[in-house]
Amino acid sequence: MVVGEVAVETDVVVIGGGPGGYAAAIRLGQLGQSVVLIEKEELGGVCLNRGCIPSKALIHAAGEYHKLAGLGKLGIQLPEGEASFHMPKWQTWKASVVNQLSSGVAHLCQANGVTVVKGSATFLSNDRIGVETGGDFETYKFRQAIVATGSRPYIPPFLTPDHQYLLDSTDVLNLQEIPNTLAIIGGGYIGMEMGMAFAKLGTKVTILEAADRILPQTASHLSQEVWKQAKKLGITVKTGTRVETANVANGQVVLELLTPSNVREQISTDKALVTIGRVPNTKDIGLTQAGVMVDERGYIPVDPTCRTSIPHIYAIGDVTPGPALAHRASKQGIVAAEVITGMPSSVDSPYVPYVIFTEPQIAGVGLTREEAEQQGYQVTVASFPYRANGKALSIDEKEGFAEVIVDEKSHLLLGMHVVGADASNLIGEGALALEMAARVEDLALTVHPHPTLSEVWLEAAEAALGHAIHIVNKTKVVVQS
Ligand SMILES: Cc1cc2nc3c(=O)[nH]c(=O)nc-3n(C[C@H](O)[C@H](O)[C@H](O)COP(=O)(O)OP(=O)(O)OC[C@H]3O[C@@H](n4cnc5c(N)ncnc54)[C@H](O)[C@@H]3O)c2cc1C
Repeated sequence: MVVGEVAVETDVVVIGGGPGGYAAAIRLGQLGQSVVLIEKEELGGVCLNRGCIPSKALIHAAGEYHKLAGLGKLGIQLPEGEASFHMPKWQTWKASVVNQLSSGVAHLCQANGVTVVKGSATFLSNDRIGVETGGDFETYKFRQAIVATGSRPYIPPFLTPDHQYLLDSTDVLNLQEIPNTLAIIGGGYIGMEMGMAFAKLGTKVTILEAADRILPQTASHLSQEVWKQAKKLGITVKTGTRVETANVANGQVVLELLTPSNVREQISTDKALVTIGRVPNTKDIGLTQAGVMVDERGYIPVDPTCRTSIPHIYAIGDVTPGPALAHRASKQGIVAAEVITGMPSSVDSPYVPYVIFTEPQIAGVGLTREEAEQQGYQVTVASFPYRANGKALSIDEKEGFAEVIVDEKSHLLLGMHVVGADASNLIGEGALALEMAARVEDLALTVHPHPTLSEVWLEAAEAALGHAIHIVNKTKVVVQS
């Protein structure tokens, strides 16, 4: 190994080039700081290379393929037996999407004066970092640092993927063939998204979930819509079921399960996907040398300015406690960059939207009814079904509903949740409404374009006030003076 003798000096070092790290580096560049961004793999991190983007590319392709079967009723006729799904071609397309985005990030870094270094970084002290690249070792002296090293799949020892039969989420997105059978250990959002995509491609999918329902982090009335659709797709869902062992034999994965009635059962499957959570990458990056504290689960606690226990070292994204979401990472990255340059920025909004790209999609922002009630609010909850929305019917998407959670006293919107087609795009309106402290009247008074799915918000808001037009109102008319 060649060791660089003189440390390169820079204002800020950012470790990790995911959506948190690269957003921070670009913002720092915009604000005139000298920045070194260190990434050991590919720019874009998990999100762009093996998370959000490739998984959504698979979900999109599987959805389009699956839709072909329903085209007949719309009057579109396909020659029988002609449609097929070619996984290697999909892989090529996915790679082109990922490459385009990844080189876009590289270009933006360059345009903003960010020095990108390919290598693995470790803190040597609280103002020096060592970067190993191939056979070289460089040291960087920094005034401030941002830790954005992200997370990796949580794997219990008895479920260690062999990457051929027992897979993690990266492996499943790199498959060259569609498996006949796939067991998914974990019915959280990644498991359900992948399971539904493969079911649409013709795989016989079994979901094994230890909790008593799928998507246990989501309100149960929302996840029920996904459960209904999973059954329609032929997915077997086994809840209250623990996977105890996994063995590969004769090209099959044999899983031993403990059922809710404590009975042991075996299933055999072509491939099994382990997706039961994620852990932060904080172990091997020298946080102790830098004096940065981690909690008992390995996360780095931060204040609203993203400062760690060492004031000039910041942490953002999946290494910090909170939902592991790309948009949260980017927001924190921008805040950390601004705080470093003295701007009065902070991550103070409780309104981080979430999206689950299942069938139907689920998206939400703010409190659920249960959370609002636990916090002592008296709430009005009103919903509007997709089947009463003209656009939803005209695109053959009648499953789902939009729901508003309203504080009875002030009429402030506390939460907005939607399960149904394009929920992922619809929730942008919710995030803006809650961020701007909108009252339910603001939503109801906003002229929504017709015919669009966005009208579900208008009518849910009107329903909360007792005067929706396209459903029979359950709530009495509330007149605010
Ligand atoms: C299958 C899947 C689907 C997902 N779908 C969504 C979604 O739809 N929406 C959403 O919001 N989120 C989604 N996520 C989560 C999202 O990918 C993460 O929340 C996001 O990537 C976190 O960003 P980050 O910047 O904190 O870290 P990461 O994206 O994990 O990036 C960290 C980077 O740091 C690098 N690194 C680590 N250690 C070092 C080191 N010592 N030196 C140098 N570099 C290092 C890594 O190589 C990596 O590139 C998904 C995740 C998965 C796995």
